Amino acid sequence: MVHIVSERVIPIMIQPLGNLPVPAPLPGQTWQPGQALSDQRKRPLRDLRISVTDRCNFRCSYCMPKEIFNNDYVYLPHSALLSFEEITRTAQSFIELGVEKIRLTGGEPLLRKNLEILIEQLAALKTLDGNALDITLTTNGSLLARKAQTLKDAGLKRVTVSLDGLDDAVFKSMNDVDFPVSDVLEGIEAAKAAGLGPIKVNMVVKRGANEQEILPMARYFKGKGIALRFIEYMDVGATNGWRMNEVMPSSEILKLLLTEMSLAPLEPSQTGETAERWGYVNEHGKHEASLGEIGFISSVTKAFCSDCNRARLTTEGQLYLCLFATQGYDLKPLVRSTQDPQALTQAIAAIWSQRNDNYSELRVSEPMSGNNSTLSDSKRRVEMSYIGG
Ligand code: SAM
Ligand code: SF4
Ligand code: SF4
Repeated sequence: MVHIVSERVIPIMIQPLGNLPVPAPLPGQTWQPGQALSDQRKRPLRDLRISVTDRCNFRCSYCMPKEIFNNDYVYLPHSALLSFEEITRTAQSFIELGVEKIRLTGGEPLLRKNLEILIEQLAALKTLDGNALDITLTTNGSLLARKAQTLKDAGLKRVTVSLDGLDDAVFKSMNDVDFPVSDVLEGIEAAKAAGLGPIKVNMVVKRGANEQEILPMARYFKGKGIALRFIEYMDVGATNGWRMNEVMPSSEILKLLLTEMSLAPLEPSQTGETAERWGYVNEHGKHEASLGEIGFISSVTKAFCSDCNRARLTTEGQLYLCLFATQGYDLKPLVRSTQDPQALTQAIAAIWSQRNDNYSELRVSEPMSGNNSTLSDSKRRVEMSYIGG
């Protein structure tokens, strides 16, 4: 069953629910330049994730299952995408409101043509303190070997590479396009050689699919100066057929790692960090930086909403306040209108100051037991490939 929406056809299951109206500032709360901004839960705005494409060359079953994202699936037309100039202008507004870190994502961000031009434009922006922006990118690594040096030269600081196993058969079954592990490892090496570090590697653990890769991955990345992060399989979107019994809790992963490795908890490196950090320790029980660290992103079993400072901008210019939101705010008309340059900043300030999202906390208190494909309209969430990770 499909719905026809202007230039595109989207299976009804994954059609976003439409946009929310941009709110007016609360009485007496118009944002003034230089004023600290926080949401209803006193969380500042620090981290902006920008999706630069809704396309991907992988079909990870937990993100873009082949049955939905097949030849009939119609992606956003080029005219709907924000241009690099529009993205940069929007980023500037977010920076005025406190953003210090920008993560480019997708879909697969390296599929966006001339991405290095956008990176150059973003790298020219300065934070409110006059410092360089922390610009990073999450990629499946497939095009990284080819592009790492160009990205670095353009001003990219770091990369996070997704890799769900070291065994080719397992990895190919996860990416579902027969992509080999060796090419991703080559990409990681190229990123390291180009100085795009510290590099992080993300591994989504899906029970029954790749848990046998946990120990080999940890052994491989230990001591390589690369932080491996285990991500709990999340109930994002409505197409991946998520089931609670396919989630391997971080506590179980840690228990498995401790059967052969010595690890100790580390302090968060910054507020709002998504991963809980653990460091490899030496025979005296002390963390040794040269052995490296691992991380756990436990958004299913351990909520970290209380200091979530992340905003998400979709490829077509919608602002989402939570990974699990059902609707976003369409900023595109404001981005495309140049009459009042402050209007965009004021709109984002009004949206952020009224933000109250805490989906993971609610889920931990009321765990979902079913399958997210059966979500009702009122609960239908945006897809990860649309909003970016
Ligand atoms: N294509 C790029 C990549 O895979 O790195 C960037 C976009 S991807 C949506 C961003 C991150 O989200 C990846 O690390 C991916 O593994 C993760 N991800 C996607 N679907 C997920 C899910 N259902 N649960 C947990 N993580 C997921
Ligand atoms: Fe593509 Fe990344 Fe989603 Fe995998 S997780 S399908 S690589 S966007
Ligand atoms: Fe942030 Fe939403 Fe995730 Fe909570 S569930 S940490 S509010 S993105």
